Amino acid sequence: MPHSIECLLKQTSAQLDAAGSSSPQLDSAVLLCHVLDKPRSYLFTWPEKQLDDTQFAMFSALLARRIAGEPIAYIIGEREFWSLSLKVSPSTLIPRPDTERLVELALEKIPLGKCQVLDLGTGTGAIALAIASERADILVTGIDLRPETVALATENSQRLQITNSRFLSGSWYSPLEQQPQFAVIVSNPPYIDEADPHLIEGDVRFEPKSALVASDNGLADIRIISQDGRQYLLPDGWLLMEHGFEQGAAVRTILEQLGYVQVSTCQDYAGLDRVTMG
Ligand code: GLN
Repeated sequence: MPHSIECLLKQTSAQLDAAGSSSPQLDSAVLLCHVLDKPRSYLFTWPEKQLDDTQFAMFSALLARRIAGEPIAYIIGEREFWSLSLKVSPSTLIPRPDTERLVELALEKIPLGKCQVLDLGTGTGAIALAIASERADILVTGIDLRPETVALATENSQRLQITNSRFLSGSWYSPLEQQPQFAVIVSNPPYIDEADPHLIEGDVRFEPKSALVASDNGLADIRIISQDGRQYLLPDGWLLMEHGFEQGAAVRTILEQLGYVQVSTCQDYAGLDRVTMG
């Protein structure tokens, strides 16, 4: 049976819409491009092109996974962040556009000249690599608990040829020598409360809980990072952390009680509290 691009886009968008996807057209286009190994423009330049049987079988299998709710990024194994194409796996959180705000703010705080930046809970390496790609003169270290995640971040750095980055495995600061060495520490740690209903909807159901959920109303890891960070930050260094839109006041209190100064919260592109620094 012939399967033209145009027909498949139409049919599968309707199927994905019925299955509850919030971006059915985009999802079917991304899956088709992945199967055909072509850019998005190809679909609209060659709408009459037919998929062969192998391509169609592959497309059907991927579509079934998306209909079952699996995030597109895990299905195609890739996600764009800060215009870097990153490999992702189900052992990592999928980088989100909101987190680009953290990168932007961190770049403003990194002083001129040679220095070091630390990214805690680096996952795919998204934040570390985005920062390193903008500042060839600095060294960015990313740390993640899981060795397989560190391997993925390292692979991303190699694919993108971002050589001023390195990735270490361990719990928070544990792989580091205990001395002030970083001008900026950034983190998008787990910060969602276990009881948050957001955890049982959409893509987030497929992501590792360890990257999302923290005890103490979601603040436990933010507390550890803030407390221990003081030993690793240079004088005049900055700590910047992403958090939930209702956690700004609580995170500011944590930082102030630990002696951080110039503590403030910034909003994401949706106008919601997203990053607190000090
Ligand atoms: N912002 C993400 C979400 O709401 C969570 C990211 C995180 O826990 N670090 O799904």
